[in-house]
Amino acid sequence: MSWEHERQQLLETMLRLDHLGMVSGSSGNASIRLNVAKEEQPLYLITPAGISYDRITANQMVVINRDSQATGNADLTPSSEALLHIAVYDSRPDVSAIVHTHSVYASVQAVKAEAIPPIIDEMIVYIGGQIEVSDYGLPGSADLARNSVDALGDRRAAIIRNHGMFAVADTLHEALRVAELVERVAEIYVHAKISGNVVRVPDHAIAAERVLYLERTGLSEG
Ligand SMILES: [Zn+2]
Repeated sequence: MSWEHERQQLLETMLRLDHLGMVSGSSGNASIRLNVAKEEQPLYLITPAGISYDRITANQMVVINRDSQATGNADLTPSSEALLHIAVYDSRPDVSAIVHTHSVYASVQAVKAEAIPPIIDEMIVYIGGQIEVSDYGLPGSADLARNSVDALGDRRAAIIRNHGMFAVADTLHEALRVAELVERVAEIYVHAKISGNVVRVPDHAIAAERVLYLERTGLSEG
């Protein structure tokens, strides 16, 4: 079985998300952009569809090509959100890993179709600023993929309307950390709104923290 290390990383990521209660059953998914030679077609390793996280194994992770077709074991079906993953990789060369969850507080914002404003310094430095909500798209559809890419922009996370959220980074470990941060910020925002006034990070701090974010990610403004 090839891509042994990447398979193990994906398995550990899903077990961690399951442990945190950020996915349940077989919901949610994750992927890695595989390191292939420049002249080869791009390949990605993604979690399988319909296999519960209490019995998933590293061998069940699926290698797919840019058409979201499985290239190896034909018994395995890639995640139904493969189109979302490929659309993000196509639009963001800086991204090499994606984590998609149905975590509760991010989903509260998905149901309210309400973006999370910059309320915590950390979210600007690590996520890039406000967490936007995508327009609606049916699960697994090209619409959902396109709308999610639009909501992501140059940031590292977005909320998928009436559905959940996703986080991106250059490594799977970092994408997982960003996903955990999104959920924590969403929890803080939901509680802050219920209890009263919400105060945003001041504009001058947002500007300074955006510079740090762009340096961290190697992205540039504009
Ligand atoms: Zn989903």
